Amino acid sequence: MSVLKISSVSKYFPGGTKAVDSFSLDVADGELVCLLGPSGSGKSTLLRMVGGFEDPSSGLITIDGEDITHLPPERRPTGMVFQSHALWTHMNVFDNLAFGLKLRRTGKSEIREKVEAVLDLVGLAGYGERKTHQLSGGQQQRVALARSLVLEPKILLLDEPFASLDQHLRERLREEVRDIQQRLKITTLFVTHGQDEALSMADRIVVMRDGRTEQIDRPDVVYRNPQTPFVAGFIGTMN
Ligand code: ADP
Ligand code: MG
Repeated sequence: MSVLKISSVSKYFPGGTKAVDSFSLDVADGELVCLLGPSGSGKSTLLRMVGGFEDPSSGLITIDGEDITHLPPERRPTGMVFQSHALWTHMNVFDNLAFGLKLRRTGKSEIREKVEAVLDLVGLAGYGERKTHQLSGGQQQRVALARSLVLEPKILLLDEPFASLDQHLRERLREEVRDIQQRLKITTLFVTHGQDEALSMADRIVVMRDGRTEQIDRPDVVYRNPQTPFVAGFIGTMN
C-alpha cells in the first residue's frame, strides 16, 4: 500500500530554472526511500514540496489519498529535518521538543511523557535540561530528529541531516536513524548526495538528475547495475 503519492510534480523558479520536472513516485507504508543525486538535481526542492515549504508549479501530492499539494506545513502529517538543524538555541532540549505539542494544546503530563519517550528513542535520555548550544553537532541533530518525531508524523522527511558531521559520526547516526525508522515503521524520504549513505540505508533509491528520475531500484540492484554516471563512478572508486 502506498502512503505517499507524488504525481507529475514540477517546480519552476522565477528566471526559468526547472528544479523538479514532472516527477512521480509512490512510497509504500514504512518504506525508506533515498533521493540521491548530485548538487542541484532537485532533491531538496522535491522534499520541500512534500513538506509544504515550497509550492509546486503543477502536479499532485497525496498522503493516504488526501490531496495535500497546497496545504501549509503545519497542516500536513509530515515532519522535516533540515541540513542545518535550526534548533531554538535560547531554549533547553525539553522546550525545543515541547513547543510543537504545546501548539497542539497537549496536556502537561502527556507532553512530559512524549518528550521523555522520544529522547530515550534518540539516545538522549536525561538531556532535557541541557541548552542546545552546549550539545555536540551529532547530539543537536538527534534533538532535531526528536523534535520531528515527537509530533508523530506519518511521513518523515530528512534533508542531508548529517552533511555537516564527520565521517565516523555520519556512519553511526546513519545506523541509528535506520534503526529508529524501522522500529517506528515510519515512512521516510531521505535526501543525500552520499552514495554510501543511500546504498547502506535505503529500501529503494531514486537517483535524480535535472529534476527527474534517472534510476529507481533497490540498493543491491543499483549497486550491481548502476545506470547513472553518478553512482557508477562512485562504485568504481570502491572496487
Ligand atoms: P539539490 O538539493 O539536489 O542540490 P535543489 O533542489 O536545491 O537541488 O536545487 C535544484 C535547482 O533549483 C538548482 O538549480 C537550484 O539552483 C534551483 N533552486 C533551488 N531553490 C531555488 C530558489 N529558491 N530560487 C531559485 N532557484 C532555486
Ligand atoms: Mg539539497
